[in-house]
Amino acid sequence: MSKKVLVLGEIRDGVLRNVSFEAIAAGKKVAQGGEVVGVLIGESISGLADQLIHYGADRVATVEHEKLAQYTSDGYSQALLAVADRENPDAIIFGHTALGKDLSPKIASRLQAGLISDATALEEEDGEMIFTRPIYSGKAFEKKKVSEGILLASVRPNNIAPLEKDESRTGDIYPVNTDIKDIRTVIQEVVRKTAEGVDLSEAKVIVAGGRGVKSEDGFKPLQELADVLGGAVGASRGACDADYCDYSLQIGQTGKVVTPDLYIACGISGAIQHLAGMSNSKIIVAINKDPEASIFGVADYGIVGDLFEVVPMLTEEFKKLKV
Ligand code: FAD
Repeated sequence: MSKKVLVLGEIRDGVLRNVSFEAIAAGKKVAQGGEVVGVLIGESISGLADQLIHYGADRVATVEHEKLAQYTSDGYSQALLAVADRENPDAIIFGHTALGKDLSPKIASRLQAGLISDATALEEEDGEMIFTRPIYSGKAFEKKKVSEGILLASVRPNNIAPLEKDESRTGDIYPVNTDIKDIRTVIQEVVRKTAEGVDLSEAKVIVAGGRGVKSEDGFKPLQELADVLGGAVGASRGACDADYCDYSLQIGQTGKVVTPDLYIACGISGAIQHLAGMSNSKIIVAINKDPEASIFGVADYGIVGDLFEVVPMLTEEFKKLKV
């Protein structure tokens, strides 16, 4: 049975995040031939609506208000609930990002709806949508469905392929006017800790360093390799605890969960808490001096060697391939 699905587009620094397009692809599956309505919330954001249509949305609802210039769960939940009230959807899809993780449970609670968070895949079985999500820090997967009422789901970045962009697609873009009140969170200042460049949680290639990198300067060859590959630099908690890099780069159980196409672990032993954040990467390359290091247990390719020799060699070889 076809369904109407709302998909929240996520904007950062005036740009739609890739996960928005992945969420539309998930929304299309959930709609089963029905309608996908993109939702954009913010201040002066309607110019981005076309992109959601190019990636598969049939229509886009925009909620623009000066109080929505920055994300707050109070503001965004009022805006999204106003769209839900008007559209009466069967499902709402979010990206499983910091924003999606904060907002989706609040909306689920308000709508008394079932929420499947952190989905990495979805498929139809006898007319029902079955979602796959990792459990036990990625050691196992469970399959879940929402059997009653509105279905809410958040999809992990980099797991569901977006539809091909089609700039000839058109669709209605319409404003939803609602009074935004009671924002109890006051944002005094936004402090950015992450370096400029590729966003770690959406990066297709990650070059990560551990305690084996030995110093802040030791991250430089990793950054060079990441730059050549168009990727981002990440880290183990060992490297963050040693003050070689900022905690915003930490990957793992208490850091970011990433699923790039290529993860290059340099001087990382492969503790279970680190694996929890990266073991679902598509291809894992490990560089470690210790042939017994646990990281080799999850690696597709292992290089036993000194990272300060191996990483620059890889950078040079990849540079040649790019010429
Ligand atoms: P180490 O274990 O010290 O490994 C360093 C590696 O570098 C070694 O294998 C060594 O052989 C290799 N090496 C040294 N020199 C070189 C060289 N020149 N070339 C090549 N290899 C070299 N950790 C995380 O990463 N993320 C988390 O989110 C996280 N959450 C945690 C939560 C809890 C509750 C707890 C208790 C721990 C958590 N940890 C987390 C910490 C985790 O248990 C490990 O301590 C940490 O991952 C180790 O970091 P590391 O691999 O960089 O360091």
